Amino acid sequence: MNAACLVFLLLLCGTVLPAKQRFERVLTVYLDPDPVVPAFTRMAAQSITTSVFARIGIGLDWRMGRPLKHAEGVIALRFVNACDQALPGDTLAIAFPYEGTRIHLFWDRIAIRSHPEALLGHVMAHEIAHLLQGVARHSEHGIMKAHWSGEDHSAMRMNALVFEDTDVDLIRSGLDNRRLHIGSHAAGR
Ligand SMILES: [Zn+2]
Repeated sequence: MNAACLVFLLLLCGTVLPAKQRFERVLTVYLDPDPVVPAFTRMAAQSITTSVFARIGIGLDWRMGRPLKHAEGVIALRFVNACDQALPGDTLAIAFPYEGTRIHLFWDRIAIRSHPEALLGHVMAHEIAHLLQGVARHSEHGIMKAHWSGEDHSAMRMNALVFEDTDVDLIRSGLDNRRLHIGSHAAGR
């Protein structure tokens, strides 16, 4: 490993580690690793997703594996084989917004694209935003577009693709509502 690689790894670790102390809003995200996804690519993608949400004031508290069955307010990402899904060929992941917890990532479709780490990082951000917004909607521009253009993919590689203002508002209020919901359960109301 050369010095540049080591520096990059240290930067990644610094970004992926829990961000509880730095953000008022923190979301717990479980990621079930799959041996077919190179660890370095997965970590780079997590770092990108983390930075996307950090820019809008939300810290991601990453946990590896699957959440306990009754864990509340968490998001659970896992890699599945797209061949098993009856979905259009350009679908890279699927979220279940009305359920609010699960996201399936189609690694076999992401891995064959250029810069898979940047793509995976933004796909995770897009799907997490769907769950926080709680509705199946897309935007005209940015991370929540239904179909990214070549220009969008170039922006991703420079970490310059962002959420539209409307998306930011919906994401923040969605996260606040999730926390209120958990709080009311904890209080036995
Ligand atoms: Zn979408």
